[in-house]
Amino acid sequence: MLSADRAAAFLNAYAPYAVQAMFYNYGEPLLNVQTPAFIRSAKRFLAQTVLSTSLSVHNFDADAYVASGLDYMLLSIDGVSQPVYSRFRKNGDINLVLRNISRLVDARLRAGTRFPVLAWQFLAFEHNRHEISAAIELAASLGVNEIRISPPFDVSWDDPELRPAADVEYGGIELHPVTPDDYRRNWNRFPGLLHTAEIDRAFDAGWPVDIDAAWDPPSAGHTCQWLYMNTVMDANGRILPCSCAPIPNANLVFGHVDNDDAFNSLLHRQARAHFVTGETVPGGPHCQSCEWFDDQRKTDIDLTHIRQYAAAVNPPILNAETQDWLAGWSCAKI
Ligand code: SF4
Repeated sequence: MLSADRAAAFLNAYAPYAVQAMFYNYGEPLLNVQTPAFIRSAKRFLAQTVLSTSLSVHNFDADAYVASGLDYMLLSIDGVSQPVYSRFRKNGDINLVLRNISRLVDARLRAGTRFPVLAWQFLAFEHNRHEISAAIELAASLGVNEIRISPPFDVSWDDPELRPAADVEYGGIELHPVTPDDYRRNWNRFPGLLHTAEIDRAFDAGWPVDIDAAWDPPSAGHTCQWLYMNTVMDANGRILPCSCAPIPNANLVFGHVDNDDAFNSLLHRQARAHFVTGETVPGGPHCQSCEWFDDQRKTDIDLTHIRQYAAAVNPPILNAETQDWLAGWSCAKI
């Protein structure tokens, strides 16, 4: 479980610079009763917030999640009937999931807000593709804002009977759309409660590293975008460069939040340098032999999010030129 102290240490150090904070990856965030408080804290740093969940949990406090200011909640639900749903969501309870959706929708109504935006993600397998249209109908009737039909990862190593569906039309469908203006209104959800002291301290401190020492030579070639745009901390405070699933014996733990800079550890710098020079350091980062080429080009948080964030700043103190500058840089040129 992520502790309040560790969450605060990470957010205080990095959230003043953050565009978005995502609460998921190595576990189910709804099992931690402090998650709404972590989200609220990130919102007080003006970070947009996203959470992904199975929603198949008891003791779910929907009002706390609505009050947290959460912007976007991704609901992983791959079926509408119990036998089909639980083929992939082992031990999941579809009726519990649907009740929790209704609780969220009711809590939003009570609070007079459209947030969190609810997005149903349906991973299309052979065994569940016949329930896609029923899922779309059900999601609309429950008040879910959008549904995404998405391709699953290959899980045949775990269960050879679970195969991705062929010939399915992937993509998102807006059911109850939320406008960019709505997102802008939720950007500064707690104007009287901003972490102003921490934000001021971060700006006053300047760059936390020697920029000349950290700067790698220019490159016009391919690089991994994760190494510049995102960082990941797990519940134990370990820093990883990306959200790719760790593989055994891969050198993917780049440091610890208590001891290391979460963006510029030695392994971060070795990884960036590897893409620039092709140099491989013995005992260096897994990035030197990484084969996740597609993942290297598409980060969870990218220039699109930076542009959305810049446009959401309210009052609009960033003019169009500044927004272009913030969202127009390229890792490949660094
Ligand atoms: S090179 Fe691979 S392992 Fe390294 S940060 Fe990028 S995706 Fe992750």
